[in-house]
Amino acid sequence: MTVEKVETLVVGAGQAGVAMSAHLGSLGVPHLVLERGRIAERWRTGRWDSLVANGPAWHDRFPGLEFDDVHPDGFPGKERVAAYFADYAAKVSAPIRCGVEVTKVTRHPDRPGFHVETSDGPIDATYVVAATGPFQRPVIPRIVPQNAPVTQMHSAAYRNPDQLAEGAVLVVGCGSSGAQIADELLRAGRRVYLSVGPHNRYPRRYRERDYCWWLGVLGRWDAETPDPDTQHVTIAVSGAYGGHTVDFRRLAERGMTLVGMTAGYEDGTIRFAPDLADNLARGDASLMSELDQADAYIARNGLDLPEEPEMRVIPADPACLTDPVLELDLAGAGVSTILWATGYEYDFGWLQVDAFDAAGKPQHKRGVSAEPGLYFVGLPWLSRRGSSFIWGVWHDALYVADHIATHRQYFAYDQEARARAGL
Ligand SMILES: Cc1cc2nc3c(=O)[nH]c(=O)nc-3n(C[C@H](O)[C@H](O)[C@H](O)COP(=O)(O)OP(=O)(O)OC[C@H]3O[C@@H](n4cnc5c(N)ncnc54)[C@H](O)[C@@H]3O)c2cc1C
Repeated sequence: MTVEKVETLVVGAGQAGVAMSAHLGSLGVPHLVLERGRIAERWRTGRWDSLVANGPAWHDRFPGLEFDDVHPDGFPGKERVAAYFADYAAKVSAPIRCGVEVTKVTRHPDRPGFHVETSDGPIDATYVVAATGPFQRPVIPRIVPQNAPVTQMHSAAYRNPDQLAEGAVLVVGCGSSGAQIADELLRAGRRVYLSVGPHNRYPRRYRERDYCWWLGVLGRWDAETPDPDTQHVTIAVSGAYGGHTVDFRRLAERGMTLVGMTAGYEDGTIRFAPDLADNLARGDASLMSELDQADAYIARNGLDLPEEPEMRVIPADPACLTDPVLELDLAGAGVSTILWATGYEYDFGWLQVDAFDAAGKPQHKRGVSAEPGLYFVGLPWLSRRGSSFIWGVWHDALYVADHIATHRQYFAYDQEARARAGL
């Protein structure tokens, strides 16, 4: 079988793969991008129907191409985001081959580079860039047995309220996905229980600036490592319905029942930790801290942005907080579905190289892996807080492309030196 030769192979054509291709192209590095689905497939089919970008159009994009049909402060829908990346790929003439899955990558035993197996035949690649996403395999904690008499679904499989069987829904997880899906189900007339764990809250807008702007001017997108106290804490933000600050107490005012962390299950009854008040207090404290930092920035820089004291008003405790639900008989409460918005883990089974620790976590520095010639882009905290987000991956991809462009000069020199020596 003929083996195709590719100097740099990028696996995945989401935003990370497209950014990688844009930078490799502008540095003159020959490359090919393989995508098992379509460009930005996860934005197209891996998210719920009504999802909009979490960041406004002026922010969540690459340099050199705007969302020309979306107001800069608006939030493009997921299909529009996917179209944006397809447009960007066309704009930079990215060499993307869709419908081809990479199934295995191994190191050559006796020379630099990698043997790559794909659904369309083998490839020999000098460099491989894994751009297969920060959120690969949905994770459901082992709390409720598979055979329990209730439908269990991960947020990755959720599309819209009509998809769910009639009845109440328990949404577990209060990050951006859980908070938005719970809100959508409530608006659709469902009875909703939302299991709220530790979280941070941001103002959607404060003093006429979006939180993306605040994180930018305060240098927070550029933080290089997560705060050890908050690294396992989820963040609740939403661009839905024009964008609004997620406030769990307001959801409770509208009829949602908030509960603490989902802790156990036995005989049809689910148990919640008595931590709801603590978790809400923590979220509120994080919001106040954001407001304090924004106020300090405004004062220090003499900005003329109107005060917004109402953002500091915490609504009264709802009944589900003063009298928390610690156990729920699912059948008795009419709960037909548990929707787990509990995040994702990596799935790098196809990448059989020496670039992972014992727990399967990629080992790298700013995307340059422990295995020479292998790179990662798009992972959370690859170089900074913004790494897994649209604007952040652009900068990481530039660094990785530059590393490849520099490194290939050593190969080029070696080949020229051999040729000069007549070898
Ligand atoms: C619900 C949700 C909402 C989000 N909203 C925002 C937002 O508003 N703004 C923002 O900046 N970020 C957002 N993110 C975070 C992040 O931007 C997205 O997860 C984004 O999809 C990541 O892009 P990526 O290119 O790194 O990975 P992905 O989009 O996951 O792309 C990876 C690509 O690789 C392909 N692939 C995987 N394995 C293989 C293989 N073996 N062979 C070939 N192809 C393969 C996949 O088909 C996919 O197209 C959101 C994430 C989630 C989960």
